Amino acid sequence: MSKELFDLEIEQIQKTVQQHNAKKVLIQLPEGLKPQAPKLAEAIEKAGAQAIISGDPCYGACDLMICEAENLGVDLVIHCGHSELIKPKTRVPIVYFHAKANLDIKPAVKKAVQLLKPWTKIGLATTIHHVDQLEQARKILEKAQKTVFIGDTGHGKSPGQILGCDYTNAKAISDKVEAYLFIGGGQFHPLGLSLATMKPTVVADPFGNAAYTIEVEAQRTLQKRYASIKESQKAQNFGIIIGLKPGQTNIQAATNIKTELESNGKKATLLALREITPDALMQFPTIEAYVNTSCPRIALDGSSVFKKPVLTIAETHVALGKTKWEDLLEKGLL
Ligand code: SF4
Repeated sequence: MSKELFDLEIEQIQKTVQQHNAKKVLIQLPEGLKPQAPKLAEAIEKAGAQAIISGDPCYGACDLMICEAENLGVDLVIHCGHSELIKPKTRVPIVYFHAKANLDIKPAVKKAVQLLKPWTKIGLATTIHHVDQLEQARKILEKAQKTVFIGDTGHGKSPGQILGCDYTNAKAISDKVEAYLFIGGGQFHPLGLSLATMKPTVVADPFGNAAYTIEVEAQRTLQKRYASIKESQKAQNFGIIIGLKPGQTNIQAATNIKTELESNGKKATLLALREITPDALMQFPTIEAYVNTSCPRIALDGSSVFKKPVLTIAETHVALGKTKWEDLLEKGLL
């Protein structure tokens, strides 16, 4: 396994299966790790349990297969690639394996130093896959005369760790830093970091051995968000989206925003969805705009593919004139 980009800790998973005396195991993996699923299933079967791989998308630890585990009659759920987000009361135990990256981050961080030249106070952030490597990045930055900050608010997260919907570690150091360095692959997390903190964000991508800034993408996203808010102001009929994934369900928030819309003369319908896709929302032609109370990134990242505005709750308050757009920008979109 050590040659793979991510370490699935197969021996540790086998031990966990045996420690739980599990006879049937359900495995959840994010898309990037699914190619390793058959190998993992084989290892679990060697450890004495039947292995069932979930083929459904799994974007985060909000997406726990609690009902599915019951339906399938499994004794254990192995959730790979994310860290624990919620603590639901479940009969079937859920054990997390983080899938730490097996990559050397140093070459990409050295490239990022060039892009960080305008600033001296730098905040570090990353995902669970690289949290153990942040000290290596700190050393490189300090050698380049930077002062480095790593946020640590606890709450079950590692120092410097961010999630697509949780930037509290980064925000905790926001008043001390001039810019952030994100270490990891893809634009999803650094874009969120930039929108949450409204600070310059540089990416050191060890997968592509590259460094780049996220500013253009962040500006483009802000323009799209503002356009969506403006468009939603013309709407009379709103759909309020309730996520059905365990860590995304917030019925109270959905009820509250429905009441707020109705008291502003709008009509609002509650909709519960597991996968929030443009095709799913196309089924409601009379609805002119949506408020999403589930994963906040769906509205922010998917806005370009949705045919109608899909707002976060905070953006809906801007649309209703309860908050100024400038104040929302000041606070951060996430
Ligand atoms: S709610 Fe969205 S951003 Fe947060 S963990 Fe789930 S999928 Fe990721």
